[in-house]
Amino acid sequence: MPNVILVTGGHGLVGKAIKHVIDTEPVGSRYGRKEGETWVFATSKEADLRDEAQTKALFEKYKPTHVIHLAALVGGLFMNMKYKLSFLRDNILINSNVLHTSYETHVDKVISCLSTCVFPANIDPPLVESKIHLGPPHESNFGYAHAKRLVDIANHAYKEEHGCNFTAAIPTNIFGPYDNFDLDDSHVIPGLIHKCYLAKKNGTPFTVAGTGNPLRQFVYSYDLAKMFIWQLREYDDVEPIIFSVGENEDISIRSVAEAIVKAIGFEGEVKFDTTKADGQYRKPASNEKLLSLIKAGGDPFVFTPFDSALNDTVKWFVENYDNARTGKEKLAAAGAARA
Ligand code: NAP
Ligand code: GDP
Repeated sequence: MPNVILVTGGHGLVGKAIKHVIDTEPVGSRYGRKEGETWVFATSKEADLRDEAQTKALFEKYKPTHVIHLAALVGGLFMNMKYKLSFLRDNILINSNVLHTSYETHVDKVISCLSTCVFPANIDPPLVESKIHLGPPHESNFGYAHAKRLVDIANHAYKEEHGCNFTAAIPTNIFGPYDNFDLDDSHVIPGLIHKCYLAKKNGTPFTVAGTGNPLRQFVYSYDLAKMFIWQLREYDDVEPIIFSVGENEDISIRSVAEAIVKAIGFEGEVKFDTTKADGQYRKPASNEKLLSLIKAGGDPFVFTPFDSALNDTVKWFVENYDNARTGKEKLAAAGAARA
């Protein structure tokens, strides 16, 4: 039977990146499309996965043999701080419906997407896959983190009780084309790209939230897409894998802001709003497991250099400003609700 790969959240940052890689890598290559494969990139318009009936209808329509489950309520530090219950509840509902429908319809394999937010806040570095459940997550995003941790618990339970081939990826902070560039509710790179773009356009200062001191590991969405495609084809174990650059390749938010200033060509004042939260200072995650497994099955993994990936992302944002997710959808929806 030919493989049908359903990507939930297929039009988001990571979903679009997987589509890009599948469509542009040579057919039959390690990260390219295989003969006979069908890829389906689902949106929330097609099925709201918080709803069991809509989830079942989506699976009935496409009959996937494999699922890359990306759909989630996603946001950066500030959105996570504001909507802890929504992050907990929406993500538990989405994950429960996708995993249980996959089990009921005999899907061969499911890869779900966690985040390094799942790790305990006060654990000795580096973060490695075996430390997920060893203490409470950071308080700033406990709703999202607990919902995502439960996926790992569910994967083990589905395997023990029903023999399911369910696993998970744990990416660090992701960026790239098609991201959510909302000024308030996005992750740091897309949020700062948008703010710097407006500061240049309006001749105003460029304001970065927090002290600029925290460190983050950033992974380019097109690199991450290759890791998911590799995991789909070459990894069959329930234990999750961290998807990241090396644990010592974390970058300060200040350096990220400087790189964005350079990529946008902004010449005005850069300010740090220290009344805003910094979140966790550092969460260095090890990519040792990922790199050793990818290398064992073929060529070593080659990461896109940060500056080059950032330049490409800025270029995409500037060229696609009118169609990018910038928060204007929210304003339009609020307007429609008031009308
Ligand atoms: P994204 O761009 O916001 O994409 C998430 C997608 O989920 C959206 O496109 C949305 O679909 C879909 N979705 C949300 N609620 C849904 C619902 N109720 N029913 C169906 N679909 C729904 O975020 P992303 O960065 O690509 O995230 C992909 C995965 O990576 C997520 O599981 C996230 O937790 C994880 N992750 C992200 C980061 C990061 O830095 N971005 C870091 C670590 C892990 P529509 O657009 O069609 O509404
Ligand atoms: P995290 O990696 O899960 O903490 O999520 P973020 O991508 O939201 O990164 C948060 C870090 O970036 C914190 O140290 C924030 O203070 C800092 N930061 C600076 N400016 C911004 C911004 O405009 N948006 C966001 N989300 N974070 C920002």
